[in-house]
Amino acid sequence: MTVRTRFAPSPTGYLHVGGARTALFCYLYARKHGGQFVLRIEDTDLERSTAESVNAILEGMTWLGLDYDEGPFYQTQRFDRYNQIIDELLDKGLAYRCDCPKERLEKLRVDQMARKQKPRYDGCCRHKQVDPSQPHVIRFKNPADGVVIVDDLIRGRMPFANEELDDLIIRRSDGTPTYNLSVVVDDADMEITHVIRGDDHINNTPRQINILRALGFEPPRYAHVPMILGDDGARLSKRHGAVSVISYRDMGYLPEALLNYLVRLGWSHGDQEIFSIEQMIELFDISDVNKAASSFNTSKLDWLNQQYLQQAEPARVARLLSPHMGRIDIDPSTGPDLVDVVKAQAARAKTLVELAEISAFCYRDFEEFDEGSAKKHLRLVAREPLEKLRAGFELMAFEDWTPEQLKHVVEGVAEELQLNLGKVAQPLRVAIVGRAASPGIEETLMLVGKEATLRRIDKALGYIAARGGEA
Ligand code: GLU
Repeated sequence: MTVRTRFAPSPTGYLHVGGARTALFCYLYARKHGGQFVLRIEDTDLERSTAESVNAILEGMTWLGLDYDEGPFYQTQRFDRYNQIIDELLDKGLAYRCDCPKERLEKLRVDQMARKQKPRYDGCCRHKQVDPSQPHVIRFKNPADGVVIVDDLIRGRMPFANEELDDLIIRRSDGTPTYNLSVVVDDADMEITHVIRGDDHINNTPRQINILRALGFEPPRYAHVPMILGDDGARLSKRHGAVSVISYRDMGYLPEALLNYLVRLGWSHGDQEIFSIEQMIELFDISDVNKAASSFNTSKLDWLNQQYLQQAEPARVARLLSPHMGRIDIDPSTGPDLVDVVKAQAARAKTLVELAEISAFCYRDFEEFDEGSAKKHLRLVAREPLEKLRAGFELMAFEDWTPEQLKHVVEGVAEELQLNLGKVAQPLRVAIVGRAASPGIEETLMLVGKEATLRRIDKALGYIAARGGEA
């Protein structure tokens, strides 16, 4: 048997992190078993489905690299097929027309609730001959008794009594098929062997199994993935912050970091934290996913992203960083090679957004000194070293502006003034970057270039002079 999984989002918004994790699990399971991964867009809710949302979902999948082997299939293009199956169920007496008026259904519901019963349709039209030319819905004839066992790969055996399941509407009065019917037809036609989806669908599963069996199909295996919670224990939603996959791209996360983060939400392999996609494929098993919900933790994602930023190919990071530089109005072609900036800076940032911010000094003068750093390092005692450094740098030829030569000048000044290196390098760093943190001083100077170095030392000397006599 070839394993076939599917991801079946409804295009009513963006691709959110919960959906992306489900897609990842489907993808990994298919890849692990040498099977296929199918993408199906469940757009039967015509009012809520939008083309923008379809695009957002596809964009998210592409960014994450979750390649599908088949699809995207669109349910709206398969209405004929669903209607054919509905007609088949009608012909075989496995479905029936129902013209119960809304008022009757409402009264039934209220009476049942008053009797503390679970509201369910009472099968009133099961044996009625409803005129097909009059408004009606079509209901599936659910088995009246017996038990449906859902043998879930994550949750284990879950029995559902058929008495609890009512005769589900499979075609609305406007002629459109309902969710449960179209999913069943698609899962059967697309030969899906493993349905991996959110546990909000658990109650649909016994109904879907009954319809599949009525149609003579063998039901697939099911795995219901527990939900993702926010830090307050409530279901992860917009109010916890970003939930759309694409917003993580925009916040400067690498796709492999987000994937790594998502795979660990509810799944683990010993205490290993970092997984390449190949390792995920090799080690992941759907039956190892936790039954309990897991919580989204941004600081862990930040930590992973930082690891990946350091490991990734600098040229690739530079390519991904470029638009983030653009967003803070920096054109990287106007200064040092962005790849060199990445090499010097990648270990210092958690996200590409942060990397852009802490690298801005390579391309433009900062506005103001960081107050604490300037107070501490730009004091009267720093004047002489800065002046000597300036003089030394000024004499350097363009081709000598290399980390080795720059180091030489800095060390020479420290030696001449009998100061330890920090007493020279820290004021210089604050002069060049505006604050006391940067890569090695010689790399910093190299990235900034001669002209800006001299200009910024002058600014620092001006600051010291303005401060006057405070030693
Ligand atoms: N379209 C459904 C949703 O987005 C998923 C259905 C399924 O996976 O069976 O929640």
